[in-house]
Amino acid sequence: MPSTINCDLAIVGGGLAGSLIALALAKKRPDLDVRIVESARALGGNHIWSFFAADVAAEDRWIVAPLISYGWTAYDIAFPAHARTFRMGYYSIESERLDTVVRGALPERALLLGRKVLAAGPRAVVLADGDRIEAKGVIDARGPGDLGCLELGWQKFLGVEFRLDEPHDDPRPMVMDATVPQLDGYRFVYCLPLAATRMFVEDTYYSDTPVIDADLLRGRVHDYVAARGWQVEQAAREETGVLPVALDGDFAAYWQSGGNKVAKAGMRAGLFHPTTGYSLPDAVRMAALIAGTSDLSGAALHDLTWRVASRTWRGRGFYRMLDKMLFRAAEPEERYRVLERFYRLNPRLIGRFYAGQSTMFDKLRVLTGKPPVPIGRAIRAIRGQS
Ligand SMILES: Cc1cc2nc3c(=O)[nH]c(=O)nc-3n(C[C@H](O)[C@H](O)[C@H](O)COP(=O)(O)OP(=O)(O)OC[C@H]3O[C@@H](n4cnc5c(N)ncnc54)[C@H](O)[C@@H]3O)c2cc1C
Repeated sequence: MPSTINCDLAIVGGGLAGSLIALALAKKRPDLDVRIVESARALGGNHIWSFFAADVAAEDRWIVAPLISYGWTAYDIAFPAHARTFRMGYYSIESERLDTVVRGALPERALLLGRKVLAAGPRAVVLADGDRIEAKGVIDARGPGDLGCLELGWQKFLGVEFRLDEPHDDPRPMVMDATVPQLDGYRFVYCLPLAATRMFVEDTYYSDTPVIDADLLRGRVHDYVAARGWQVEQAAREETGVLPVALDGDFAAYWQSGGNKVAKAGMRAGLFHPTTGYSLPDAVRMAALIAGTSDLSGAALHDLTWRVASRTWRGRGFYRMLDKMLFRAAEPEERYRVLERFYRLNPRLIGRFYAGQSTMFDKLRVLTGKPPVPIGRAIRAIRGQS
């Protein structure tokens, strides 16, 4: 017999954004009856999410602190003509840990796992098994809406976690090793030294297409590992991602595609960095905001999340303009020059860039000096002419 669950707040989708909201509310509003509905048996999927210290404001760190699996005090980048170490904290969260922490923070009845949602409205959720949730408020965090409403390039990657026979001697994450052959757009390898004999290695492309040839990328990851002289005992875990890099688009249509009048969070709210496709910094900010909001009714949550998301989209035109230059003005195999130049800038400016919080001065600084792409082509790309 289908049943109806009544609660204060239903969070639809137990990925990164939904889980962070649930966690923040468990801490700040333990009086609320919150349910989190996830189609998989565990929260968070199969990910390592990473972020820079500057991505999360000091007052919001309590949300991510229990989730951090790995932390480093510096990271490296390497390009053909320029390598550098940045003295800034870098952290990673494993999805298994997110699952454990959220389960530990919420009462058992709050977790509706292995339950697919068919439809979500501002105050009701319909589950595929016939059950229904009636809530004072609903937040939809089921991942991207219709990305077809946006004009996109792609950041795509395949990562493998290796167990090594012997300790490696890399003390820091290599956030971008762009000394590798440039193929399918801007290519770099990303390495996280998880432990003395564990290394996560990811082959990444800023590409015009979202298509991943997993065998090809896996082969390139293994070639890179061999070239570094790391002896593999076992390839333990693999993850792939295809993230949107936003050049332009109809944001109102994107929002609408994710559900009419329904509050949204995470990728569903379009809350991702236009240049990296990363959503963690925005997801933390949204979780903190919701945990500090008194009116959690469906209508109020919709207005709040729409206001934040549309303002964020409007405020990020600068990043979308740079993305146009990267994808339209630079030849694919020359795209690395744009990033090489960027990584010569002030570390604090770089930190604010990734946090999506560039100042007016930062923006001017990024644009001054000799451009790494032909200026005429850059102007045509920004104007949308080919
Ligand atoms: C492999 C990978 C690595 C990434 N690394 C980073 C990183 O290092 N840093 C960063 O900031 N970003 C990273 N990203 C980008 C982005 O931050 C993540 O995709 C992030 O998980 C998005 O959060 P989200 O909550 O919006 O969506 P998700 O985390 O994808 O969560 C959506 C959830 O909704 C569930 N769901 C979907 N449909 C239904 C349904 N009908 N019923 C019930 N549940 C449903 C899904 O199972 C999923 O658990 C990465 C992405 C990928 C794919």
